[in-house]
Formats: sequence, structure tokens, C-alpha cells
Amino acid sequence: MTSVAEQLGIIERISGPVVQASDMKGTKLYDVARVGEEKLVGEIIRLIDDVATIQVYESTEGLKPGEPVYPTHSPLSVELGPGILRQIFDGIQRPLPVIRQTTGDFITRGIEISGLDHKKLWDFNPTIKVGEKVMGGDILGEIPETPTVDFKLLVPPNIQGTLEFIAPRGDYTVDETAATIKTVNDQKVDLLFYHKWPVRQPRPFSSRLPPTIPLITGQRIFDTFAPIAKGGTGAIPGGFGTGKTVSQHQLAKWSDAKIVVYVGCGERGNEMTDVLREFPRLVDPYTGGPLMDRTVLIANTSNMPVAAREASVYTGITLAEFYRDMGYDVAMMADSTSRWAEALREISGRLEEMPGEESYPAYLSSKIAQYYERAGRVLTIGRNPREASITVVGAVSPPGGDFSEPVTQNTLRIVKVFWGLSKDLAARRHFPAIDYLLSYTLYWSSLEDYYSNTVNTEFPQLRAEALALLQKDKELQDIVALVGPDALPSSEKIILEIARMLKEDFLQQNAFHDVDSFCNMKKQYLMLKTILRYYDKARNLYQKGADVKEIFEHSSTISIARMKYIEQSEIETKITELITEIDGLTPRDFGVEEEY
Ligand code: ADP
Ligand code: MG
Repeated sequence: MTSVAEQLGIIERISGPVVQASDMKGTKLYDVARVGEEKLVGEIIRLIDDVATIQVYESTEGLKPGEPVYPTHSPLSVELGPGILRQIFDGIQRPLPVIRQTTGDFITRGIEISGLDHKKLWDFNPTIKVGEKVMGGDILGEIPETPTVDFKLLVPPNIQGTLEFIAPRGDYTVDETAATIKTVNDQKVDLLFYHKWPVRQPRPFSSRLPPTIPLITGQRIFDTFAPIAKGGTGAIPGGFGTGKTVSQHQLAKWSDAKIVVYVGCGERGNEMTDVLREFPRLVDPYTGGPLMDRTVLIANTSNMPVAAREASVYTGITLAEFYRDMGYDVAMMADSTSRWAEALREISGRLEEMPGEESYPAYLSSKIAQYYERAGRVLTIGRNPREASITVVGAVSPPGGDFSEPVTQNTLRIVKVFWGLSKDLAARRHFPAIDYLLSYTLYWSSLEDYYSNTVNTEFPQLRAEALALLQKDKELQDIVALVGPDALPSSEKIILEIARMLKEDFLQQNAFHDVDSFCNMKKQYLMLKTILRYYDKARNLYQKGADVKEIFEHSSTISIARMKYIEQSEIETKITELITEIDGLTPRDFGVEEEY
């Protein structure tokens, strides 16, 4: 950067979160500028000659034309180093607890707080020796960031050379020198324990890997019927109150990802406050420790300005990429991306851009695409590249639950998993209210082998059979609605009953039940197998003269309905017992005397 003598811009015009400033020569598009006497944080989003349009991430109330604007000559960036986990940030990586301590509230203006704690000491353990050749992505050492996650100190991307110095084992702040690298052109680069990265720029990786491993979520509707791959993309559209937030929380709590990045754009007044209260209390099902030990929250409370929402998804995905680069599987949730799109719309309106569909900017689809493209299962950079992933799931809240609106449509064009929430199911208290017929995954063909090999070879077959039954059930329900159930032949009444079991005893899963909240793959497989075994048995018993109604009033059906509450540890024995019981049923148990 040629050093422009600290020339200050001047505010000309203020329109909500958007400020126009003149005398901004020497600045670049997407540079951060500090706006007004209070030095509010903003980003230059349009530059014509020396007039900059700046979106401001803080409330512009009270700001006046004529106040100065301070260019920073650097893009909106986050600090990447130890201490991100357990943290709760706002949309531009300012730790909320620190803001609250400083100002007594989450609302702050112009306050200078860094993303990382620069005073905290970290126990660094080098894993590399002086003289070694290093490149971006190489691991220099480790820091136990939390009891569950080892932080890997990496050579930042784009740096290459010979290691001249590495800090010996000891306690350091992030501002101390961790390593010195002599680059090929004999320059010495000191690396600290953190580096900055511009949030709008994806971090590099070596190559993409195929989506062949599922992200196991412990939710039967997802894992069995519409699984997402590690590194995959998915969307959960749904109207108000259909279960977007509960689904996102379930994914955050139970997914078998190592790191969780949760971006919340509070839809209702206190929703984000609930997250901030609830998450720190959650127990990690995989370690027994606090879930926050491997989680980072980014919160947009309803009193924060819209522009901060716009930035928050980039801040979130950049933090996700940082942990991916260490070699971890990361799951990122955003609830809801509609709030983010609305921020884009508001800013675009203020810029008087030509509006597209429903006043969203014409670039809405490319913005959505760019965001989801940062997901993926990859081979990291570095001499010993690691397999790692970022799975991204976004909730979408279409007004009135109408999936034909632009944010839902543009999202569905990009993501490969669609978990659609249904108003009808939610109204009937069928939770999770995911429409099991409408929802889909485009990953099944790449994941099928994994399910065959690690769950059970017959799992894909059972899944296909169950899906076909649910589909058939839908057709039969339409007939029943017209002519009543009695018009159906018994073979079809059996299908209705089995489909009811699939819906009530398998698909319905109570997020708030201690046992049922999480269901591992073995349990999912055994539950599905039992219900389909009962289907075979029911058809067989009916052929031999048993009454359909009696078949579905038998005590085994009660045991089937209770399978979901069987503790993980007992699942194998109890379900095997149940299957043996079902296999042993004879027509005699249903009052049919004659065997023929
Ligand atoms: P949204 O975010 O779509 O507005 P929520 O996720 O807040 O909706 O869900 C609304 C309500 O639906 C919840 O408070 C809860 O009572 C119920 N609900 C949703 N999903 C489940 C679930 N899996 N298990 C039990 N209840 C659920
Ligand atoms: Mg919600």
C-alpha cells in the first residue's frame, strides 16, 4: 500500500446503515473505514472517483454530514488464532461478553475490541524443528485450546521457506513470535500465534474430495432418508414455527463434526438470547464436556444493524475454514439466511440499485452461491495435507412458508440437500416436521457404500422399501380422503398401518426427550428393520386368516412404538428380542385355529 498521508474523508450523506463520503482517494473497494467522530466500523462497498459508499456495521444514529471518515486501507478481516472456540462474537468478530463488560450492553459504537484475547497465555508445544522446509498449511505446533480441541498452529497460506526459529515449549500470548521463516528470496517473516484473514476471501485448499462420508446427525429423518455428506450443503426452509431453529440446534448438538460454527440471526426478539443462554449449558454427547468447548457462536441480536448480519455469515465461514485447515470436520449452521438476504436487500435499496425479484438485488443468487461454495470436503494445503470438511446448513424462512420466493428458490438451486418443513406436519405435531416425501438428498449415490459398509449391507434396501411404502401411503391417503378407508382391500390397509408406524414410530423424533433426541445409526437401522419385519409378518398373518385390525392391535406394535425410547446401550439386545418375538407370531395368536 503506498502510504497515503492520512487523508480523511468527509461524510456527505447518511441513509440508514449506508453512508456516503467524499475525499476518499487512495482507498479501495471493500476496505474498512472508520466512520464519524465515534469511528464506527464500516466497509466500502462502492467507490466512484473519490466518493465512497460505506456500509456501517453499527447504528448510525446521531451521525452527521461533515464528520470525518478514517480509511484503514485493509479489508474486513478476522483474527485467526487460539481462543475462537467457546467464544460468542458479533457479526464482525467482536466478543459479546467483552462488549457487555465494557459497555454494560451488547450495543456499542466504535468500540475497539479485537477478536482474540491478546493477554491470555497459551501453552504452545512445537512439533517441528529449525531448518525444516515449510509451506502454507504446515503444522508448527499445538496448543490445547479447550479440553476437546487441539489447536494446530499453521503456517498461513502463501508463505514458504525454511524455518529459522520456532518458539520452544512454553506459555505465550498471541502477539509473541511463534516462528521465523526465511523465504526463498531471503526475506525473514515472523509468524505470530495468529494471523488476519479477509472474510470475503475463501481460504485456499489443495483439492476437493468426493462427498462419500455422511455427517451423522442422530436425527432419523435426516440420516436415514435424506442424509447430508460431510462437506455437503443443505437448506431447511420452513414457515414460522415449523421447526427451523430446533432442527439447527439438533444439528449443532448432535452432528459428528468436530467443530460447530453457529450463526444466529435472531428472528424473534429473544431467540438469540435463548441461544446465548442455552448453548453454554449444553453437554457434548461425544465427550461429556461442555459443547462450547468445540463451538463458536456468532450472534446477531435484533438490536444490531442489518449490515452486521450481512458480514456475519462471512465471518462464520472464515472461522470454519480456519478449523478445516487444521484438519477438522466443521459443521456450520446459519439461522436464518433469509435475515441475511434481507440485509442484502436493504443495503441494495439504499444504494438505489436496480431491484430484481421481490426487490432483492439481482446478485442475490451469486451471493448465495459464493457462500455455499465455501463448503466442501477437501485436502488441505501443506506438505502433509489433511482430509477435512465444512458442511453448511442454512435455515430459510420464507414469508408465509411459501417456498416459491426468491431466497428459497435461489438456495435450492445451489444446495444438494433439501429438508423442507411442512406447516401441516407441524400443525399435527409431527416433529421434526420435515416433509419426508418432498425432501431430498443428492448425496445418496455417493453415500450408499458407506451405509452398506459401516451400518449394514441391507440398510440401503430397507431404506428404499420404507420410502416406497411412504410414497404408496400418500397415494392411498388420497383415495381414503375420497371414498373412506373401508373401500380399500386389506393388503392396502396393511400398507396404511405400516406407513403409520414409519411416520409415528420412526420419523417422529422428540428433540426434547433425553433418549430420543439422539439416535445412532445402529439404532436407526434396527428400528427400520423391525418395522419392515412386522410388515412381512402382517402380510403373512393376513394371508393365513388373521384380521388386519387385530394384527395392528397386538402388543408387539406397542413395543415397536416404544423402540425410540430404548437406551443406546440396550438397543441391540432389546430389539433383537423384539424381532424374535415378531418372528414367532403365528395365526393362532390372532385366534385363527386352522393352519392350512
Ligand atoms: P422456527 O424456527 O421454524 O420458527 P422452532 O424451531 O422455534 O420454529 O420450532 C417451533 C416449535 O416447534 C418448538 O418450540 C417446538 O415446540 C416444536 N418443535 C420443532 N421441532 C421439534 C422437534 N424435533 N421435537 C419436538 N418439538 C419440536
Ligand atoms: Mg427460528
